[in-house]
Amino acid sequence: MSTRPQCGGAPVWGMIANMWSNGGDVGVAGVTRLARRLGAGVAVLSLLAGCGNGQSPTEAARLAEARRVEAQQTAKTPDVVDALFLGSGPLIPRDGSTDCPLQGFWSGYPRGTAVRIRVSSRVPGAAQAGIEGAASALAEATAGALTVIIEVTPEFDPQPGVNEVTVAEVALPRAAGCASDAGCVQYRFAGRGLLMGARVVAPRGRSVGAYVHDAVGHGVLGLCHIDARLIGGAGNSLMSAGSGVPPGSGAPSLTGLDLEAIRAVYASGVNPGAGRSAFLAARLVNLQAGQLPRSP
Ligand SMILES: [Zn+2]
Repeated sequence: MSTRPQCGGAPVWGMIANMWSNGGDVGVAGVTRLARRLGAGVAVLSLLAGCGNGQSPTEAARLAEARRVEAQQTAKTPDVVDALFLGSGPLIPRDGSTDCPLQGFWSGYPRGTAVRIRVSSRVPGAAQAGIEGAASALAEATAGALTVIIEVTPEFDPQPGVNEVTVAEVALPRAAGCASDAGCVQYRFAGRGLLMGARVVAPRGRSVGAYVHDAVGHGVLGLCHIDARLIGGAGNSLMSAGSGVPPGSGAPSLTGLDLEAIRAVYASGVNPGAGRSAFLAARLVNLQAGQLPRSP
């Protein structure tokens, strides 16, 4: 798709065509729903792009109104996508600690992957339920690109196989290979940005939200952190972090803000492993100051 601003309906149909070719098992109802959502999104984009130089006074007023409404919103989806999927843009934690699996690239499992989460039976039941609850939203949010299977294993410290995320609770995370006893996520890649597995090592007494943050946010989705203050509070994202907000003290599950960003990315033609230029070309993120649009 062209990176130039376009008017009219052409981009809508281009994106729908992309969806058809990507989402093999998206049902007709699902496509209609997605098309409606995308249609609305593109209409807003067209407005913001200031279609046509010969704007009528009505159009100009409508554009001004759209900008005003946009400015009132705490966090815009393109900026949320930028922070969560690439670790860049205006919403990354002010301390610069994005905690991405791979900075600047979308880290994720290839479309069509069934990701298995294997949770040690030592992990508290509430955390197991939290992980399962967040994971259950992903089939819809990724338009079927990811399916997640959860199983509880009696192993104390399960090791991830291909397309597996393991979750363990241990007394001393350093002894399990983490840099500190706060715990860690260890990633395995099949290529640049292509996740192959992740091992979550958690200390005892960890909150449900911290488990879900590591297992689903980092481990399954490959997400980075977002600044809690810049999105109106830690409760607005599973991936909230930043000064005074320890990672995992945000929302206990994926929020509406998170899910909108996930839906936008998976509904696009962009694939895991892509860099920011591909996100820009697909209009998933905004141009940054001083940056020129170019083809991926
Ligand atoms: Zn984190």
